[in-house]
Amino acid sequence: MQTNSESIQPQIIQQFTKYLENNALRLTTERRDILEQVFAYDDHFRADDLLMRMRQNGYTASRATIYRTLPLLVKSGLLTEVIDAQKQSHYEHIHSRQEHAHLICLRCSSIIEFENPEIDALQEAVCKRLQFKPVKYRNEILGYCAECQKDGI
Ligand SMILES: [Zn+2]
Ligand SMILES: [Zn+2]
Repeated sequence: MQTNSESIQPQIIQQFTKYLENNALRLTTERRDILEQVFAYDDHFRADDLLMRMRQNGYTASRATIYRTLPLLVKSGLLTEVIDAQKQSHYEHIHSRQEHAHLICLRCSSIIEFENPEIDALQEAVCKRLQFKPVKYRNEILGYCAECQKDGI
C-alpha cells in the first residue's frame, strides 16, 4: 500500500519552520509529524479527529501538543480555523481546496462549503478600491441548514 502522507511540499515545512524560528520555537519531531498529518487531510477536521488519526497511524504526539500546535499552524498561515456555532474549532489546510466560503448551521454545526467566482471577483474589486492587500479571504454565513429547517426552524 502506498501512502503520500510523508511527502509534503518543502515550502510548507519551510513556511512553518520560519514562523517557529520567528517565535523562538523549533520544528520538533512532534510538530513535524502533526504538520504532515494535517496536510494529509483534504477536508475539515477537529483537533480530536487529528489526535485519533495520529494514534491510529502510530504517532505518539500528546493531546496537549496537538492542541498547542494547531494554533501555531493557523498563525503561520498554513491552516484555516472555522469556528462553528458551538464554538468548536474546525481546521483545514490551505491547499485542501480552492478559495471557498462556509455556511455554518447554528443548530447541528454542519459546515457546508461553496464556491462562487462572482463573490471572489467582488472581494478582489473591493480590496483594490481600498488599496488593501488581501492574504486570505474568509467568508462565513451563519444560519440553519436544509435538514434543520425540516424540523420547523
Ligand atoms: Zn443543521
Ligand atoms: Zn472549508
